[in-house]
Amino acid sequence: MKFPLPRPGDWPWVSLHDVCPATLDRTEALASRIEALGRRATLLVIPNAGWDTASLERLRALHGRGHDLAGHGWTHQAARWGGLAHRIHGWIISNRVAEHLAEDAAGRERIIRRCHTWFAENGLPEPSLYVPPAWAMGRIPAKRLRELPFRYYETLGGIYAPRHRGFTRLPLAGFEADRPWRAHTLRFSNAINRCLAGKTNRLRLAIHPWDLDGPLSADLLRLLSPAEAASARSSIS
Ligand SMILES: [Zn+2]
Repeated sequence: MKFPLPRPGDWPWVSLHDVCPATLDRTEALASRIEALGRRATLLVIPNAGWDTASLERLRALHGRGHDLAGHGWTHQAARWGGLAHRIHGWIISNRVAEHLAEDAAGRERIIRRCHTWFAENGLPEPSLYVPPAWAMGRIPAKRLRELPFRYYETLGGIYAPRHRGFTRLPLAGFEADRPWRAHTLRFSNAINRCLAGKTNRLRLAIHPWDLDGPLSADLLRLLSPAEAASARSSIS
């Protein structure tokens, strides 16, 4: 089965990253903005992050407002460096969040299974999508991936459905620029990806909790503006 993409008028597909008790205020504020556009987001939930009864209730309320839930690692924190490639990835993209890269294939599988189980243990709906922190999956043999509980896995390039061996390529725009050179690089990459998305706006928008305070906030606000949403709708009608 192919990944269930948004309907033609509902692009871009918006993901709110790093949902945990510490970021819930910001997630709720961003979710309200997206709802004001008549859209809903996919919430990327970090399980092992200090959830309690009250914060879980707020997460359920967000789901009740129509936002999907997806798994996003286990701790969202690499306990150690996994080698030179991991250090380079950390410097360029992920800082210390790419927890898969600190593990071997068996460790990555454990993270994914624990993440999936946490939703059921907390009475949350079963998520079909898993997004490794910083989109850094690390190597897992295809046969093993097919046996893991999520149906879809998001990477930098798009969405992979291992049981159907299908890959849906989707351009991605991000706004998490915690260093000045990252802002330049991201702005350039976002421009290319918006071109790839074309007039139909078939684009993933990856929003992190502090993006509206970052150097790319104006770019993000433009993409979340009602005018932009209306223009995307009219370009496909
Ligand atoms: Zn993340």
